[in-house]
Amino acid sequence: DDKLQIEYRVIPYGDNLRLLVARDVTQIQQINQMRRDFIANASHELRTPLTVIAGYLESLEGDLDSSAADLQPQIRQMRQQTSRMQTLIEDLLMLSTLESRSNKQPQEPVAVADILTSIYKEATALSGEKNHMFALDIDHELLVRGSHKELYSAFSNLVVNAVLYTPAKGIIRIRWYEDDKGAHMKVSDTGDGIAPEHIPRLTERFYRVDRGRSRESGGTGLGLAIVKHIMQRHHGLLNIESELGKGSIFRCDFPPDLLVRKSDDTATSQ
Ligand code: ADP
Repeated sequence: DDKLQIEYRVIPYGDNLRLLVARDVTQIQQINQMRRDFIANASHELRTPLTVIAGYLESLEGDLDSSAADLQPQIRQMRQQTSRMQTLIEDLLMLSTLESRSNKQPQEPVAVADILTSIYKEATALSGEKNHMFALDIDHELLVRGSHKELYSAFSNLVVNAVLYTPAKGIIRIRWYEDDKGAHMKVSDTGDGIAPEHIPRLTERFYRVDRGRSRESGGTGLGLAIVKHIMQRHHGLLNIESELGKGSIFRCDFPPDLLVRKSDDTATSQ
């Protein structure tokens, strides 16, 4: 809509004065909306042709007769790259859905313990020969109001990153607990760690500390941007602490008013 949009800020000025700053952000918001629409449409349009290409490549790979067997590596490469593009497009689409304001936040009580248990199983498989040690410390009674699908995606992104950026035999710890500030989902790893100058930029789209390394691991560079948006939609925050060479802690903080205890689940949910 082309309504005038004004952003206000109150700035303390001396001991008992306040400055009120009003800024017309109509045009900025329109441009942002155009950018969001463009990304959503482009990703959507790219999805179908890619699905077709991926399908044909898959059957081609299976149908090669012995005379064409030496094409196998190239076809496998094409399939892998196509699959990377598909992941990228799904991530871009997910980000646009998260950003669109018309997309309301579901308020179902979400069993975080169940989510973390399945993610833990997936992570063990992904860890494979790296043989990480996983430590789980999960409050099974603690639920949070929100979207099951989004929280799954956010937590999975963090745990998968811990697996990808932690060398063999490292320790990955997953916690879900409550304290006086709210509830927290915390993933700590004894991995590569991140230098302080990178930390504030990690949640920017396509920001990667080491492009080559991240591409190799199959990352899109959109994971943490997605986590940040999902946390914002749950009135929460993503907190990152890390030390180069020692490891990282990614913590999702949820405010107390979103929390539900399993015992009073039926009483409070409609
Ligand atoms: P990617 O798809 O590249 O993993 P993300 O947005 O998930 O993108 O992460 C952005 C960057 O943050 C990664 O490329 C990596 O450099 C860094 N990173 C994320 N998680 C970790 C971690 N647990 N340990 C070290 N570095 C990490």
